[in-house]
Amino acid sequence: MGRVDPRLHLFAVEGSSYAVSTDYLRFARIEPEAAGAARRGGPADPVLNRLGVPLDPPGQKRFRFAPPDTLVLMLTYACNMACRYCCQGEIPDVRENHMSRAVAYRAVDWLMRNSEDAETVNIGFFGGEPLIRFSLMKKIAAYAGRRAKAAGKRVRYGIMTNGLLLTDQVIDFLAGKHVQVTVSFDGPAAVQNRNRPLKGGGRSFRLIAGRIRRLLARCPDALLRSTLYAGTDPDQVIQTARRLGFRQCRIEKVSSSLLAEGKKNDEAASSGQMAAHLRRQGERFLAAVRERDAAGLQRIAVDSAFMEGVRQMFQLARAGAPVRRRWFSCGAGRQLLAVAANGGLYPCPRFLALPEYRLGSVYEDGFRGELHRKSLIIHSEDCRLCWARYYCGGGCVVEHLGRTGSIFLANPDTCRLRRARIETESG
Ligand code: SF4
Ligand code: SF4
Repeated sequence: MGRVDPRLHLFAVEGSSYAVSTDYLRFARIEPEAAGAARRGGPADPVLNRLGVPLDPPGQKRFRFAPPDTLVLMLTYACNMACRYCCQGEIPDVRENHMSRAVAYRAVDWLMRNSEDAETVNIGFFGGEPLIRFSLMKKIAAYAGRRAKAAGKRVRYGIMTNGLLLTDQVIDFLAGKHVQVTVSFDGPAAVQNRNRPLKGGGRSFRLIAGRIRRLLARCPDALLRSTLYAGTDPDQVIQTARRLGFRQCRIEKVSSSLLAEGKKNDEAASSGQMAAHLRRQGERFLAAVRERDAAGLQRIAVDSAFMEGVRQMFQLARAGAPVRRRWFSCGAGRQLLAVAANGGLYPCPRFLALPEYRLGSVYEDGFRGELHRKSLIIHSEDCRLCWARYYCGGGCVVEHLGRTGSIFLANPDTCRLRRARIETESG
């Protein structure tokens, strides 16, 4: 049996055969005979013609990078919970527990200057548990508001919180500033209590669920972010999210970089569970489309930003519109930087444990961004040869680094999941 032409990816969903143009992101259902012939190494041109794409690969890409417009501030490394998979212990300067007001204001100044002519800048509050520093957060927002006004910019805010300190006063602030809130919560109750206990060891589900309901009454677009770890069933997470009233839910498998040696298999297990879940989700989606089941479609509108992007790509392709290829999966180290408590700049919050990836400091303009300007689609052999490359953009470099020791060697568990997600969406 010959090899499938690399310009094509062939797969089956529910007994139907599909072909995707790996270069031009067009897809179509094809006859089983045509799929069989292409799979046996037969000529790809008839299938590519059926997809309506050029036979030659696209020309070389020239990049133009926008200035950084997003800073994620590590307000504190302290936390009021003791999650089983937490990575805080890996961060070397964890003794410098809190960000000072001086560093925070420097970071705001840095962002205003270095974002050049960007009209909107973004500030994320991150930790540890950032709401432990609620009073600093309010000061930062007031200061950033003044600095942005003077610079003719708009500021948007985001926060990642465990939900425990969502008091009415905090919710008022978040609603008033239109903060995009992400709540890390692993519900159902047994899973949340096991994986995300309180610092003293108590159960957290009931305490936080009540606060989440109050939050959603004021901030209905708050997002639930759940980490899949040690046997969690993604379907149950989604049911819990729905019961609590979330409109959006993002489920991520636990990352290998967050796990101690000897527990790395958990990542493979959770990515396997997630891939199986995606298949089930895809089957339900197809059934809902066939039966024009609006409620069914709504029930599964619970997904990740990555999937949202892939979905849009498929929608554009269905409409015959051009689809832009993805050369990066995120803005880490280019548009987005994390600020450590001591003012160091890193590609994103998950790099804070790795001092060798420090890119600069809020005390100097500019940053060392060369490494993160290298698209994995060009510089990683795994990604260069992957059929899903232009849908994926190369995945999360922290996930790769944590698993393989190099940002240019892809993490197979991440890849399995991303490819499964893409195939699910094409049906
Ligand atoms: S990260 Fe994996 S799935 Fe994504 S392009 Fe690279 S090899 Fe493909
Ligand atoms: S490198 Fe990974 S963790 Fe960091 S922002 Fe990108 S996708 Fe997120």
